[in-house]
Amino acid sequence: MDEQTTNKCSKCGKVNYPTGFFECEETIIMNNENVCFQCAFWISRAKKQDDKRNVVIKSDEGMEVYWLGANLPLTPCGFRGFGGRKFVIKFKNGRALTTTNLWSHGTVPSYSEDLFTVNAEFGKWEDEK
Ligand SMILES: [Zn+2]
Repeated sequence: MDEQTTNKCSKCGKVNYPTGFFECEETIIMNNENVCFQCAFWISRAKKQDDKRNVVIKSDEGMEVYWLGANLPLTPCGFRGFGGRKFVIKFKNGRALTTTNLWSHGTVPSYSEDLFTVNAEFGKWEDEK
């Protein structure tokens, strides 16, 4: 590293990334693995892949990570992912479900795709065929 570099992410190579965050899951990973906040975010999500709420889908945009929120009855004032839009999710292990509470974590940067395994795909509603 040159004299101007105070830190360099061991995952993506970003230099002089911000470090002044309140302590949270990501900052602990940042300190332990010498990575930037964004890489720590994806590492923290990758560590939750065994959770049944984890959804990883390959799309035209890349590898996308979602999280299944609680499938509670619709109420007029509850927060739901994607505004309560219905999704059909077909897991590679045969499990399939519909949800009106899917939350997006975003598209995984290409240099972090190695952390994830695609485990599902979106299905269609019967009336969409
Ligand atoms: Zn990074």
